[in-house]
Amino acid sequence: MKREIRQEDSDIRKYKIKKILEEIKKKKGRGTELISLYIPPGKRMSDVINYLRQEYATAENIKSDTTRKHVKDAITKVIERLKYYQASPENGLVVFCGAIPVSGPGTEKMEIYVIEPPEPVNVNLYRCDDHFHTEYIEETLKEKEVYGLVSIDVNDAAIGILEGNRLEILGKYTSGIPGKHRAGGQSARRFERLREMAVHQYYDRIAKHMNQEFLRDDIFPRLSGIIVGGPGFTKNEFLEEADIDYRLKKKIVAVIDTNYAGEDGLRELVEKARDILSNIRYVREKRYVDEFLSRLSRKHNMVVYGLKEVMDNIYSGAYDVLLILEDIGKKYMVFKCPKCGATKEYILDNEEALKLEYRPPKCEKCNVDMELDVNRDLVEHIASLAEEYGFKVVLISSATEHGKIFKQFGGIAALLRYPITY
Ligand SMILES: [Zn+2]
Repeated sequence: MKREIRQEDSDIRKYKIKKILEEIKKKKGRGTELISLYIPPGKRMSDVINYLRQEYATAENIKSDTTRKHVKDAITKVIERLKYYQASPENGLVVFCGAIPVSGPGTEKMEIYVIEPPEPVNVNLYRCDDHFHTEYIEETLKEKEVYGLVSIDVNDAAIGILEGNRLEILGKYTSGIPGKHRAGGQSARRFERLREMAVHQYYDRIAKHMNQEFLRDDIFPRLSGIIVGGPGFTKNEFLEEADIDYRLKKKIVAVIDTNYAGEDGLRELVEKARDILSNIRYVREKRYVDEFLSRLSRKHNMVVYGLKEVMDNIYSGAYDVLLILEDIGKKYMVFKCPKCGATKEYILDNEEALKLEYRPPKCEKCNVDMELDVNRDLVEHIASLAEEYGFKVVLISSATEHGKIFKQFGGIAALLRYPITY
């Protein structure tokens, strides 16, 4: 359960950064004057700043007056911000800075974005271009669940970890078990018994390695599941008889037939498990959508759904889990009267929100234009309320079957701890 909450928190964090990157990606410079800076984890900031000072000196050679000024201003701004850090944080640091035209040439405003990535970004890069280079940080935001893999037959075994698309082999083992046919002169029964013992020792040896590797502090908390494969019946017997830690047993999500065992078996397992792996990603979401649907039919007072109803009750404290479509595409806006301080709240589609931004509402009392006070993505807004009011947020992918069903209910719902009385 603990892990699940952790996973959801990190989903929201990634979601927020993805949203910011979407905006950053759209920005275009007047010329080659937008700076992208990637600093790998642990790098000394004084080294980075020295490097930037050299770039500043080099910028003197830029022919265009405006571009030269913009580049130098941007470098200065980046250096100012980096001074707050001794060294690059544990996942590295990504900075985008440059003059962005507001409406045509000459209207540029300096913008800076300093992002601490949710996953390590091991890229060392300084680039000055007419756009920002977001691709390296985007790469790390792709779904990366960690799976434990075990491939075993009677001769060979291997243990590995699949992280995103990267397979890491943690160990390769051979059984040393003699073949089924005894040498001449041996008693058949004795041979069988010895062989059986050797098989058991082999199973226990592999289970011990499995326990050691998968329960490691740097692996176990991230482990989404374990997949076991191999030719024939050995893998099933191994799972039944070997002394595998109960915490790992609970994580076994699939047992798959492969042609090979050992290292080759692991590679084969990755290929064959791909469908299963992508499905597992959605199992968590689907569980919540199923719960929502079941409550709708059986415990109607334990659920609210639809944008208005969910937002109206969000401060009630009764929410346990809030489900929302990942691409619901809505903005939360608050306008404030500059005279009397009265406020108006809106939740709008992105397009309508943009219109309202240009044509703000009037204060009914003072008859003046209200000013935009808050303008944020709805999912982010909800995530910040979730912290305050103690509920979980689960993002639902819309391309899935359960996502499509969920969309028909407005793409937003809350599972309640207790019924809300009006
Ligand atoms: Zn007013």
